[in-house]
Amino acid sequence: MSKFTIAIHGGAGTISKKSMTPEKEAAYFKALNDALDAGYRILEKKGDALDAVKAAVIELENNILFNAGKGSVFTNTGTHEMDASIMDGKDLSAGSVAAVKNIRNPVELAYTVMKKSEHVFLIGNGAEEFAKQNGIAFEPDEYFYSEFRHKQLLKTKKSNEIALDHSVDPDDKKFGTVGAVACDVNGNLAAATSTGGMTNKQFGRVGDSSIIGAGTYANNKTCAISCTGHGEPFIKAVAAYDVSCLMEYKGFSLEKGMNKVVMKKLLKIDGEGGMIGVDAKGNAALVFNSKGMYRGFYSSDGKREVSIYK
Ligand code: ASP
Repeated sequence: MSKFTIAIHGGAGTISKKSMTPEKEAAYFKALNDALDAGYRILEKKGDALDAVKAAVIELENNILFNAGKGSVFTNTGTHEMDASIMDGKDLSAGSVAAVKNIRNPVELAYTVMKKSEHVFLIGNGAEEFAKQNGIAFEPDEYFYSEFRHKQLLKTKKSNEIALDHSVDPDDKKFGTVGAVACDVNGNLAAATSTGGMTNKQFGRVGDSSIIGAGTYANNKTCAISCTGHGEPFIKAVAAYDVSCLMEYKGFSLEKGMNKVVMKKLLKIDGEGGMIGVDAKGNAALVFNSKGMYRGFYSSDGKREVSIYK
């Protein structure tokens, strides 16, 4: 039996202690701890890494604090378009969806694409039609509406910016893309990521979160990675897969590979953000070049940590 571990993130950005109230901070800690527990409970029962990452991400998608599922940010036309992906390191099977509307749990839909379709990646109307055929839960527009998010959009529109969720206003940063990676008791790895994208993004824009290799990657031979940050540079850097390549072809450790990608390669192309990773020995790493990243991990050796700032 090998060490099992789950790590999660709730987004990266300009998150500072001074923009927090004790109540807000407590709500974030609770949400992150609940998601860690949801995944860990599955691993503890000798469950699959794949089921653990899905459970942790669903927990975060259902929480309005994070920019995924219920808490998804607004596009420039005032809609919510969500991206998500999931990958099983055991056999490299993967499922992704992009620009989907009204889906309660986009990660569940990505999982269903992986399990029940001939394809890896479905987008927009086609993905929604597939969701209907497979009994995936939908929610009305009101479910995704929140006043503070709408304010975020109006503010971002005024300055004509496209903003990372946590970086809309230095004094008012609330949400983030979510993700989870896990190594189960059998040394299987899995990763999942889910997001509403960036505030004021052009409708139809797809970020890194749904792109296998960019925002999400898992391979039992190397690592499982889930990213968060400014999606365009993460796509250009093929960030998640690059860590796997550095491990496979150059013999890097997980942490060394993640540091190279996040602190060197991404920074060079203005790629603000971070990533979480696990390897097949159950080691976890959480690396970011932004001011903060909502994050946590929990290992069967008793190590547990949940943090927000640097
Ligand atoms: N990476 C996401 C995107 O670009 C945003 C985020 O991580 O907050 O869509």
